Amino acid sequence: MNRILSDALKSLKMDESALRSSLVKCDGGVEVYATSIHKLGVAVVMMARDAKERFVLVVSDCKNTMPSGFEGETIALEDGGVALKGALTAANAAALRQHFPWCAPKSLRNERTTVGCGDRLGLASRGHILAARKFKVSPVLAQQSMRELSMTGRTFQGVVDDATFMVYESDFQDGYGADGDHLKKIPDIDVALAAGMPMITLDLSDVMNAAAGDWSEQQVRAAFAELDTKVRNRITAEYFNKDFVLGEGVAVTLDEVTAMRCALMYLEALAFACKVYEHLKAKRGDEFDLEISIDETTSPTLPSHHLFIVRELCRNGVEISSLAPRFVGEFQKAIDYIGDLAEFDRQFKVHALIAKAYGNYKISVHSGSDKFAVYPTIGRETKGFLHLKTAGTSWLVAVEVIARHDPALYRDMHKCALKNFNAMLALYHITADITRIPALDTLKDAELPALMAMPEARQLLHITYGPILTSDLRERFFSAMHRLEKEYDAAIEKHFDKHLSLLGAEKR
Ligand SMILES: [Zn+2]
Repeated sequence: MNRILSDALKSLKMDESALRSSLVKCDGGVEVYATSIHKLGVAVVMMARDAKERFVLVVSDCKNTMPSGFEGETIALEDGGVALKGALTAANAAALRQHFPWCAPKSLRNERTTVGCGDRLGLASRGHILAARKFKVSPVLAQQSMRELSMTGRTFQGVVDDATFMVYESDFQDGYGADGDHLKKIPDIDVALAAGMPMITLDLSDVMNAAAGDWSEQQVRAAFAELDTKVRNRITAEYFNKDFVLGEGVAVTLDEVTAMRCALMYLEALAFACKVYEHLKAKRGDEFDLEISIDETTSPTLPSHHLFIVRELCRNGVEISSLAPRFVGEFQKAIDYIGDLAEFDRQFKVHALIAKAYGNYKISVHSGSDKFAVYPTIGRETKGFLHLKTAGTSWLVAVEVIARHDPALYRDMHKCALKNFNAMLALYHITADITRIPALDTLKDAELPALMAMPEARQLLHITYGPILTSDLRERFFSAMHRLEKEYDAAIEKHFDKHLSLLGAEKR
């Protein structure tokens, strides 16, 4: 590493592009990420890796000109020069965001196509960026739910910090989002906001009255009669047997019972959404993206319900960036769409028209990875004005890379997954019959990667990431991923390229 540091010291007077092309980038097992080399005053800041880990390097001509905020081991160089080698700590991530503001997440409310790139490992952003650079899309590189954080033992701040380092490493200055995903309570939202996450996905499933969706007409009428007179009169006047014309010759009608049912199912939840919106406004002005999610419910969101929800939000002055309905058919994790494609097309078109007519927000497609059969419809009907949310698929790409390059480790991960599958079923809705997965000892090493093309094996590994990552396999897994960094970047890039191409995202 010494040659890199002394060369950097000698080159401090060069401008950034000259420095980038001339600097020694490899010495004694240390390799500098070429795209990470940036001048900062008279100092140079860059990221590098050795066989064990990645780290930050800062080189300056003397102690007084070292940029503030970085922490780590100080190394004295000849001629009074000084260098710092720092681990990927919270302080160093904060220093990068302070000195290079494009390393911090921002609101993407004005961006047309946004893609949630959930990264359970903190290692996928470089590959996501490689794919995002080829299309006119904005990536939400930091995105985790409370469920994921509790599975992996990470924090919102850690998730943002991991993305920060990779954004800096990749010199990605186009801007990226950070999403506190599926949040249900204001204290949790505050933790995400404090970590600098500008996007909040508000999950209304706990505050809405989903049960009313299945009530009989009689039950609905009885419960509606109990509501406040003013509310009843307003709902009656505004919704009973009204046609809502959306354009393209499409209209949605709410009959009496549907209007009553919607009031019972959603009014309370929408009052909470209003409160959260005011809270976000007070904390961040216009610098936030509010997504409303009603996808984790038992039955699909009918277009009439979607319309009721957003019309009420508009009425209360709540501006949302996106909304995630639950679509007809099955959007199971990690596998393609299951259901009637023609019916999906018909309903999706209406959802997209509602979004256009009531505030022009994005339709958000949750569990959105690997739904190759419906991407053409989604891209066409939204004309690319959408949010696609992916979460576990980048983890599965990592699993496949391991299966390809470290079969012994894959076998141990697979066994751990089988052992924990039943416990994890309580948390994730999937229908895989894992008895269809061939027994591991009947498979040759070369046959292991093909498992990640098999829906049952994909779902098995998809939902068991928590137990795997917190077991005694953790260290082996992360050291293999460090070794296989280039393979992982390339595999993520390829996988997301396929997603974005089928969605019809515009190429750059
Ligand atoms: Zn969701």
